Amino acid sequence: MPEPEFQQALAAFRTIVGQNAVLVGDGAAEPYLDPFAPGDAHTYEASAIVMVSNVEQLRAVLGVANRFGVPLWSVSTGRNFAYGGAAPRLKGSVVLDLQRMNRIIEINETLGYALVEPGVSYYDLYQALQARSIGLWLDPPAAGWGSVVGNTLERGFGTTPYGDHAAMQCGMEVMLANGEIVRTGMGAMNGNQDWQGFKAGFGPSYDAMFMQSNFGIVTKLGIWLMPKPEGYMLCNYKFRHDADLESIVETLRPLKFDDTIQSNAVIESAVRWAAGVSTRKQWHDGPGAIPEPAMETMTRKLGIGRWNLRFCLYGPQALVNARRDVIHQRFSSIADAELTESPYTHANVEPKGGGDRSQVGIPNLDAFNLLNWRGGSGAHIDFSPVCAPLGRDAVRQYRMIREQAAHYGFDYYGGFTAGPRSMHHIFAAIFNRDDPAQARDASELLKTLINDFGAAGYGQYRTHLAFMDLAASQYDFNAHALMRMSESIKEALDPNGILSPGKQGIWPKKTKERD
Ligand code: ADP
Repeated sequence: MPEPEFQQALAAFRTIVGQNAVLVGDGAAEPYLDPFAPGDAHTYEASAIVMVSNVEQLRAVLGVANRFGVPLWSVSTGRNFAYGGAAPRLKGSVVLDLQRMNRIIEINETLGYALVEPGVSYYDLYQALQARSIGLWLDPPAAGWGSVVGNTLERGFGTTPYGDHAAMQCGMEVMLANGEIVRTGMGAMNGNQDWQGFKAGFGPSYDAMFMQSNFGIVTKLGIWLMPKPEGYMLCNYKFRHDADLESIVETLRPLKFDDTIQSNAVIESAVRWAAGVSTRKQWHDGPGAIPEPAMETMTRKLGIGRWNLRFCLYGPQALVNARRDVIHQRFSSIADAELTESPYTHANVEPKGGGDRSQVGIPNLDAFNLLNWRGGSGAHIDFSPVCAPLGRDAVRQYRMIREQAAHYGFDYYGGFTAGPRSMHHIFAAIFNRDDPAQARDASELLKTLINDFGAAGYGQYRTHLAFMDLAASQYDFNAHALMRMSESIKEALDPNGILSPGKQGIWPKKTKERD
């Protein structure tokens, strides 16, 4: 947009939110650059940041954005690392930072939910539960510092029975591009008490429409919390052979399906485990993926499996033991498997390791240990295809990634988070962001994988800013009918195209026409 109009828009933003809540010039946008950019982070640089503190300010900011045609990129706490951080898809967008809207509106212990604003982090909610001795657990994502709203809207997940965050969401308040506030589900009715209890309401339900989209700005979100169990048991299985993956998935599926394993179960490759406790140099210092003999030495010395399975059992001791016995018995058919578990532990006693803490509802940042794997300034971008919980699909996806990763010089740092009916297959391309060649290779690898997987009929559940168009284009049934529907909704709800242009490959008509 022309500079004088941009300056007028900034002046208008300042009158709404105050001088100090509009950041512009002199590196103000630096903290909002993608810290793990696979290439030049300035490709996705914001022109300014506007911080709002309440819905009145938000409505007024949207009014200005509509008037001047300023694209806004909404973030809650902007910690969407590996997928773009707080950076906007469209360079020059103004980041609309919602972290100052950080009230925990309600925690209901009886009905097991919280209602929060965008700026409430998992740590904030955890501390509130602790401080008030509330008998509920939250489910933190792998890196627990982000917000409940941002992570849930991105359909993030964790490793307790409440690990499918989008599925545990109930009731939203959304501000539309025209400034109107809508409440979904039972919240659409004045005086109703079941907003966080009954998702559907009456008529069409829209909550999912505001996830991974650019149709509105979520200002409140309800999330179900897990009743604190009496105790828990952390289980850790190690599988000796690379070829065990198929049997692991086949054995796991029925146990997840009938809820014998209550939590999301995580299958981790040797490198994913090793990167948490060691560096690559200790095992192999050359280019290319770690060769087979070094992998063998690494797994032996660290005492880990080629595949490792983590899950947690919850409840009274007798029930936990009964579940454990069934699960042990099933997995014992896999040759050379080492099936271990921690002793049954009272829910008030915290485990030590980060991954273990996540499984009992305690946010932590251990997920970032992987950054040291390759040395230098560690960064990663994630490739995140959805995988059916079938051994043959898991093996096929694993081989496809491992081969392309090796071709571009990356180790297979990956694994599967298994729910009952699908798995998230997550592969992290770890690189040194100070090494442009490594960053470029990571980017090329991701593009190749998205295309290869698309051709094989596999789609992503989430992706980095740089690949949103490519990932969206794989969803091609009936000549991309779903995208056409999204574009119609976009045009109807946001005719000036001010909300997060390009998010998930959805572009406003006017941007598409201009390009
Ligand atoms: P985190 O909770 O990890 O800090 P972010 O704030 O980075 O998450 O949000 C992740 C993504 O979710 C953003 O890039 C944006 O597309 C979307 N998003 C975040 N907050 C909102 C919101 N309140 N309304 C609509 N979309 C949002």
